[in-house]
Amino acid sequence: MKISKPQIVQENNQITYRVDVESIRGNETLWYSLHESYGDLLSKTCDAPLVALLIPAMAIGEDIHINGMISERLLYNLSVPLQKLLQLIIPSLHQIKIHPEDVCCDKPSLVSGVATGFSGGIDSYCLLADHYYSKVSERFKITHLLFNNVGSHGSGAEQLFRERYERLVPVAELLGLPFLMINSNLDSFYDKKLSFQQTHTIRNASVALLLQGGIGRYMYGSAYHYSDAFVGPSTGTGRTDNITLPLLSTDTLDAFSVGGEYTRVEKTLRVAELLDSYKHLDVCVNAYNTNGYTNCSTCWKCLRTLATLEIAGCLERYSASFDLNAYKSSRVKFFATLLGSNDPLPREIVQFAKDRKYSFPVSSHIIHASGIYPMMRFPGRVIRKLKRLTNNSG
Ligand SMILES: [Zn+2]
Repeated sequence: MKISKPQIVQENNQITYRVDVESIRGNETLWYSLHESYGDLLSKTCDAPLVALLIPAMAIGEDIHINGMISERLLYNLSVPLQKLLQLIIPSLHQIKIHPEDVCCDKPSLVSGVATGFSGGIDSYCLLADHYYSKVSERFKITHLLFNNVGSHGSGAEQLFRERYERLVPVAELLGLPFLMINSNLDSFYDKKLSFQQTHTIRNASVALLLQGGIGRYMYGSAYHYSDAFVGPSTGTGRTDNITLPLLSTDTLDAFSVGGEYTRVEKTLRVAELLDSYKHLDVCVNAYNTNGYTNCSTCWKCLRTLATLEIAGCLERYSASFDLNAYKSSRVKFFATLLGSNDPLPREIVQFAKDRKYSFPVSSHIIHASGIYPMMRFPGRVIRKLKRLTNNSG
């Protein structure tokens, strides 16, 4: 795989960083674009495309030749250690060699910008609780919020990416922080076998590396507690963030995972202390809600958040962002599924209820004891099974 020198082009109000990429897949261009007012953050190195294209190159087993400069520390970490780690997560990847035209050996020095991704969810707000709202050293206080299009909005879902960004603009304005929308075609280099879930850390870190001109520290909100950290096949990169991100750091960018010290319940309670979150918390898995609220209030993410808030006695605080009536009509069944689950997150909520001496509704216990709850979790599967049985018997 050959990666060209980066070209930086300004057009309309956007500034685009792009490299040509030549591989067995053909001739392609990898690009990132952002508003021109943030042009001074752009790095002139090839660190971002190298990180973005490492997994795709390992997938096709092609060495990488870069016609540009990369950071010495990144070359060291990506040449063997990170590749070995990625092979443990995705065993089909091949070990490859990296040949840069030039290596940057500057004295280590971090610039002052401190960035994190912002989605308005529990992980985002928890990170801000500790690194924006709290008293924290200036060098660890968030100065920039990022919103990236690197695969989380689905393939080709640029409209959804833009709509989600626009929805969060008032929240960023309330925080008084610059909110950077970074568009990219990076996702097109990852085939279906390399899912976003398995590769999101690397994809997002490539954007942080792109901004090394002004960003010296990049915090990645951890989705997992330390006790759930794990290296192995099919786990995705999220569980290995504490190992992966330091390997993606350079002498000018310090990347690391934060929030692993909290359980999901503890994070939710931390967020419930933030007045700003009451109107704007956005945890919903549904992209479009027509109920007039940010959150549908009945998907599994909405339900687990609201159940935790209810047990903590904080539910009413979120009446502007969640449809609490819709939640109240779903909570009995949801509590029944929690009581019957052996998964870590439901068990954590059940334990939290015990600690707080919170009593689940009697009807939840009855549903749980009756054994109906597993069928209620998978209604589609039950209906298909019943249909098959009906067809077979007919
Ligand atoms: Zn929802």
